[in-house]
Amino acid sequence: MTESRDGAPPYPVGLRLAGLRVLVVGGGRVAQRRVPGLLAAGAEVVVVSPETTPAVEGMAASGEITWHRRGYDDSDLDEAWYVIAATDDRAVNERVGAEAHRRRVFCVRADDATEATAWTPAVGRHAGVTVAVLANREPRRSAAVRDAVVTGLRDGAIAAPHDDERAPGVVLVGGGPGDPELVTVAARRALSEADVVVADRLAPRALLDELSPDTEIVDVSKLPRGRSAAQDEINRVLVDRALQGKRVVRFKGGDSFVFGRGYEEALACAEAGVPCRVVPGVTSAISVPAAVGIPVTHRGVAHDFTVVSGHLPPDHPESLVAWDALARLRGTVVLLMAVQNLPQISSALMDGGRAPSTPVAVVSEGTMPGERVLLSTLGEVAGDVARESVRPPAIVVVGEVVAVAHPQRYPWLA
Ligand code: SAH
Repeated sequence: MTESRDGAPPYPVGLRLAGLRVLVVGGGRVAQRRVPGLLAAGAEVVVVSPETTPAVEGMAASGEITWHRRGYDDSDLDEAWYVIAATDDRAVNERVGAEAHRRRVFCVRADDATEATAWTPAVGRHAGVTVAVLANREPRRSAAVRDAVVTGLRDGAIAAPHDDERAPGVVLVGGGPGDPELVTVAARRALSEADVVVADRLAPRALLDELSPDTEIVDVSKLPRGRSAAQDEINRVLVDRALQGKRVVRFKGGDSFVFGRGYEEALACAEAGVPCRVVPGVTSAISVPAAVGIPVTHRGVAHDFTVVSGHLPPDHPESLVAWDALARLRGTVVLLMAVQNLPQISSALMDGGRAPSTPVAVVSEGTMPGERVLLSTLGEVAGDVARESVRPPAIVVVGEVVAVAHPQRYPWLA
């Protein structure tokens, strides 16, 4: 190409590539980075290259793309609407660019942007908005602007209300184990769109500070816990506010459906005819052990894990847990709400056959500033927890996986 396009700014468009062929010449790192975005846009991707990276080869093997394992030929452009010249051979990219120009097909040049008829912007997406940034061929700068805009959309710093005003209703949002970094993108978005947030004791409270001043916060952590009267009161608040036309977020720790009474709230909404949506959360049962380096499964050590509520002692008439069966499992047992009943629970597990030397970790206030890990054994954990005054919230991990993470503490298993 002879004419220079330098100087003039690019003209942005959004290509709608669904079902249209896009040719990618070259199968290296650039192709690997571009192809997923093309596929996400629904393009029919054809890669021409004698070799590819394993990732590109994998996409060909799974049928997501077509890969012609050979050098480029001008006829490859026959059906193409758009082409990316991404080989590491400048002469080949030049040939692709020249033929594309002749055919009036826009061409991205991985090796030389000044020769290209199209540039790839830094792209980000959030909630149906596509952000594309072209910063005069300074890729770090475009990425930085893109990140800033996407982050702003995510955390609500950039207000982007939908044209169709969001319908009132209740969103049950799992807030993760406590660290605000472990809240999902969907959770943040629901919070930023809420008129009312009904918050729990265990929900990451730092996020409430970020809410706009006109968001009403209902703190239900002071209601007596566990009582059904308290739950009735929460259900009433959710339903009443939603019926007033408000968007209500029920924000709680971990995942709403893991010992979170979330489904009771969903049922209350259904009974009242209030729309209810669920945003899953990162449950403390798995994430708190992980955050302190304890895997709930490990190949050759534990091929199952069971999450159990310890809020009732094993001999309680209302207990639904088959403690004797649990004691016969070989895998990991993760106990929630078990601090108070730990003496009876550890005895029940040992009575049922689990060895007193079984490693146990008790993680309190996991992922939060007060996080503590106590390493013990099934035989000694109740005494250790009492002596160390471990307090809820705490996760108790029972099983050999604890020794995988701390072999020096359990030399008999090494
Ligand atoms: N729905 C929550 C669990 C609610 S039950 C979830 O999915 O995580 C409350 C229990 O969860 C606590 O008693 C404690 O056992 C556990 N828990 C929640 N957050 C915790 C944390 N940050 N550290 C330790 N344990 C936690």
